[in-house]
Order: sequence, then C-alpha cells, then structure tokens
Amino acid sequence: MADLLVVEDDETIGMALSAGLRAHGHAVSWQRTARGALDAVAGRGFDLVLLDLGLPDLDGVEVCRRVRAAQPGAVIVVLTARSEEIDVVVGLEAGADDYLTKPFRFGELLARVRAHLRRSAALPPAQALLIVGAMVVDVGARRVTVAEAEVALRTKEFDLLARLAVDAGTAVSRETLMADVWDAHWFGSTKTLDVHVAAVRRKLAAGPTGAEAPLITTLRGHGYRLEHSPG
Ligand code: CA
Repeated sequence: MADLLVVEDDETIGMALSAGLRAHGHAVSWQRTARGALDAVAGRGFDLVLLDLGLPDLDGVEVCRRVRAAQPGAVIVVLTARSEEIDVVVGLEAGADDYLTKPFRFGELLARVRAHLRRSAALPPAQALLIVGAMVVDVGARRVTVAEAEVALRTKEFDLLARLAVDAGTAVSRETLMADVWDAHWFGSTKTLDVHVAAVRRKLAAGPTGAEAPLITTLRGHGYRLEHSPG
C-alpha cells in the first residue's frame, strides 16, 4: 500500500480517482486547491502525487515546483488538458516525473501509478552508497568507483549497474531490469538490455583497477547477476 495525494479541483474526477485508487489498496488524501496541497505536502511524506495543473488558486507549474521542493522523494505525475505545458513541467524545471493528458482512462492511470511505485521501491534511494567488493556506487552523486578509480557511465548504464548492485549476488530477471531501469514492459526484444550490460562490463574492465571490478554474470534464459567478488 502506498500513500497517495490527489490534487484535483474537479469534483467528478477527484472523486473517481480517490475511490478508484482506494479500491486498489492505496491510502489516498484528496486536496481540491493548491493551498490545500501545499499544506498537505508540508505536513508529511507521500509516495506519489497526482497533480492537476489547472487549479483555481495558483499556477499549476508553480505548485509542481513547490511540491517537488517539499517532497524530493515522491513521484509526481501531472494531469493536464494542455499539452503545451508538459515540456516545462516534466523537465527538470518543475520536477514532475510523468504526465497524463486529459481525458485519460482510469486503467491507464492505474498502470502508470503501479509502474512508478514498483520502480521507486526497486531503485536505491538517492543517498545510498552501494558497496560491492572494491566497487562503490554513489547513487546521489551518480558516480561509480572501483578501488577509487572512477568509471564513467552513461545514464542508463549507471541505472542498470545500480539496480544490479541493490541485489548483488542475486539473480535479477530481464523483465525486472527492463521494468525498473527503462520503466517499460517489453514483450519483444530486450536487446537494449544486452547492449547496456555489454557496455557496463567493458567500462568496468577497462579502468586502471578493472581487474578488481565485480563481474556481471549472464544467466541464460533468465537475466543477470552482479557478483560479490570477481572470479
Ligand atoms: Ca482542474
């Protein structure tokens, strides 16, 4: 069960969202104004905030910015009828993670909420230091070192290695990696995953301390496992 905040001034939509999400086992607080939403996020932490951008008392983008500042760990999904706002809001500027354009189906919203909650539970918290043998993954700084030598990784390579490091020594399935790192359930090819694993392996091994780096073992027909110690 997750703690959700719904911010929506439209009674019909707010009612439907609150009731629907409660029926799926979530704790839901519903606020109808920006002022109410900002009071709520100042008071306690939420796992996910559904934020209508068209509120009566304050500009939605500004509300989004303030919700993000108050809740750095929450997932923010904005609901808007105006597609031109999306770039601003979902970009770094206002800090939203995702959006849905009105009108949307409840099933679509629920699937999106589930994917985000799953993903935020699986990925390491921003302040985490993941230590696997000689390798340190500093999630907040997005830096990887092996015996203190830095390994430069691209965004998804970093996310992939961090996800494997959370469960070091344990098999992680391809489906789990696709869902957690790419936020996608791929029914077809997962070649993207293999390409990224190959790149991470190459970069870990290529550094001056590459011989001390942990190995990513392929588990045929299943997924991958990051080894606690090399060899
Ligand atoms: Ca509205």
